[in-house]
Amino acid sequence: MKYGIISDIHANLEALNTTLQEIDKLDANKIICLGDIVGYGANPNECLERIKERKIDSIMGNHDVVACGKKEPDNFNPVARDAALWTRHVLTQENREFLYNLPERREFEDFLIVHGGISDPDLYIFSTYDTIPEFNLMKKQSVCFFGHTHVRTYYVFQDDAITCLFDYEIKIEPKAKYLINPGSVGQPRDRDPRASFLIYDTEKGIVKFTRLEYDLSLAQKKIIEAGLDRRLADRLSMGK
Ligand code: ZN
Repeated sequence: MKYGIISDIHANLEALNTTLQEIDKLDANKIICLGDIVGYGANPNECLERIKERKIDSIMGNHDVVACGKKEPDNFNPVARDAALWTRHVLTQENREFLYNLPERREFEDFLIVHGGISDPDLYIFSTYDTIPEFNLMKKQSVCFFGHTHVRTYYVFQDDAITCLFDYEIKIEPKAKYLINPGSVGQPRDRDPRASFLIYDTEKGIVKFTRLEYDLSLAQKKIIEAGLDRRLADRLSMGK
């Protein structure tokens, strides 16, 4: 199987469309999303329509859970909170229900998917230290994909050591465990503004990351026209 793995779209339709087109060219059999379909960007309903049309298996992100009204944005900063409440207001009833019913995590035969971490969907994995409890929880699958930090990276647990790496290609070794972040489609924060995703070929045991230019100025224009905070438009071109 060839999986296209995407995360943190954040209602950026331009980045999502460009990413899906590229995944189609790469002949993925299935597309999977690690959550945060909405929040920050100007096209939450349109992005959700694409997710549904394309039958993309998704899980719930911390912005999705607030946008659908299942939780309040108590631990959000003011800019994120305002954007989440704007999203809640513009979502159609059907899309709100779709988000409400997303699972927190999913298990596939070859891997596991979570938004933040296995121990906690709100966990930010930023260091090898953060991955220790997560690797301990990986019993059945040796690969786990996570998002939430918007930073493309991966961690390998092998021979009792954990390493954080940034290579664009990973060869999955049978005796190692992997925590892999595809980066963010719609709001990258690793100082590279291009949309980020990965392809996992389970037969070859190869993970390949890709970065893509997209119509960033149109996404920014829509954010400003929607009356969302200008800083949400600015950060797209800075990639942070
Ligand atoms: Zn996010």
